[in-house]
Amino acid sequence: MPYPETKSACGRRKTLNTGGHACPNPACAYFAVTDAGLHAGVGNGKRGQRQDLQYWKCQACEKKFTSRLHTPLYRLKTDPEKVILVLMLLANGCDLSVLVRCTPHVEATVTRWLERMGAHSQRLHGRIFQKLVFPLLQLDELYARVRRDGVLWLWVALDPVAKVIPTLSLGSRTTEAAMHFVHQLVQSLAPSCVPAFTTDGLRAYFYALTAHFGQWVQAPGERNAHWQVSAKLLHGQLAKRKGHVQFAVMRMAWGTRAALSAALKTYGFSPLMQTAFIERVNLTIRRGVAPLMRKTWAYAPLQYQTIIDSGSATVGVENMSGTLAKQYRCNSTGIPVTNYSAISFTTP
Ligand SMILES: [Zn+2]
Repeated sequence: MPYPETKSACGRRKTLNTGGHACPNPACAYFAVTDAGLHAGVGNGKRGQRQDLQYWKCQACEKKFTSRLHTPLYRLKTDPEKVILVLMLLANGCDLSVLVRCTPHVEATVTRWLERMGAHSQRLHGRIFQKLVFPLLQLDELYARVRRDGVLWLWVALDPVAKVIPTLSLGSRTTEAAMHFVHQLVQSLAPSCVPAFTTDGLRAYFYALTAHFGQWVQAPGERNAHWQVSAKLLHGQLAKRKGHVQFAVMRMAWGTRAALSAALKTYGFSPLMQTAFIERVNLTIRRGVAPLMRKTWAYAPLQYQTIIDSGSATVGVENMSGTLAKQYRCNSTGIPVTNYSAISFTTP
């Protein structure tokens, strides 16, 4: 029952909008209710050194709580603007030691902020990215050298149509890590969704994808059930060969090439297997994340020059750069024109 209907209409009117905030007391009848017209929340003054911390009170259970509860800023004494500035500089590749030298904060403080923001972003991503339907997905992994943990790989999935990144996972470059990554990806997909996958030549993708898209089947008379890979699964690999002569081999790991080509054509792509879109996103991620940065790739004369360069450098296919250039041709406003003019090109 809406709280305003349970009390008399007399009394002081609410002046603050309490929408979006909810009582954090699990025993309360208005627990997690964010609608201002339903819950019993009212303003409870401002606190803190700068008097900038809005407090709320639930009139039903008398619980008082801050607007920063369950956010990464909870119990931080530093001005949020300074915290955000430091994190933004970190995210843009500024070195931690520079920030420690130029701000009054020690390394442990900045690292803690980063961990809190990272964990919160991951939770939020998991909450929002659910029951997704993707017709196509490109998967790839990025090499990263992390000071404390040594060599790590960042596994990335990308929808080449809407440029959505449903999953990011950090780990080793093993089958186990690929299983974890694909498992995480499957959690964000709608139950019936089986996208067509394009990956590089890493065998772990094949094991992970065939292990996650399918079902256990037990035929009458059979003693044990066996795993049957989904008939809808399509998995094309673009295996890059690096050496004196660079070239790429296209092969189907699961499904038929005709079916994958038809799926790619439906969304306006060339029927050739390619992982070029995710390579582009990888470069964008590399530019933004200091441990992933490669100086030779990080600086290009033009924003979209990088795409063309990376297209030819990574796959070594002569016409790949031409195809990419066509798909990402810029108009006068600098916005890339793709076959999907309704969908804007977003970078993470
Ligand atoms: Zn309450």
